[in-house]
Amino acid sequence: MIIKMSRSQVDALLEEARRGYPIEVCGALFGLISGDEAYIEEVVPLKNVLKSEVMFQISPEEFLRVLLEHERKGLRHIGFFHSHTGCINPSSIDLKYMSLWPESIWVIVSHHPEPRVAAYRAINGRLEEVNVHIE
Ligand SMILES: [Zn+2]
Repeated sequence: MIIKMSRSQVDALLEEARRGYPIEVCGALFGLISGDEAYIEEVVPLKNVLKSEVMFQISPEEFLRVLLEHERKGLRHIGFFHSHTGCINPSSIDLKYMSLWPESIWVIVSHHPEPRVAAYRAINGRLEEVNVHIE
């Protein structure tokens, strides 16, 4: 699986993470899927209701609202993004929620030790890294 994002979308995610630091920022990704490729059309920051430095939670009402709004525009929900303050690997809590959303791609950004973006999916409980293509 490949996820395709523009340079400006990646920059927007990194900027959002910088803005929210040290709280984890989070949001939803919408776009189109063609075969093995997911194209991100819109990055939508959402509130981390936990205001936590180690985990995030999106309010179901806020998610449903943006989901319906983007489905009306013909876009699909591709996955979620959130920031880490260090290591870019999914945490054990992330893995738990990823397995509840098996079709979703999880994008994680971090500034430490350097600005980075990575993406993952959990397929049948197994973690799979998704290639990020920045165009
Ligand atoms: Zn995480």
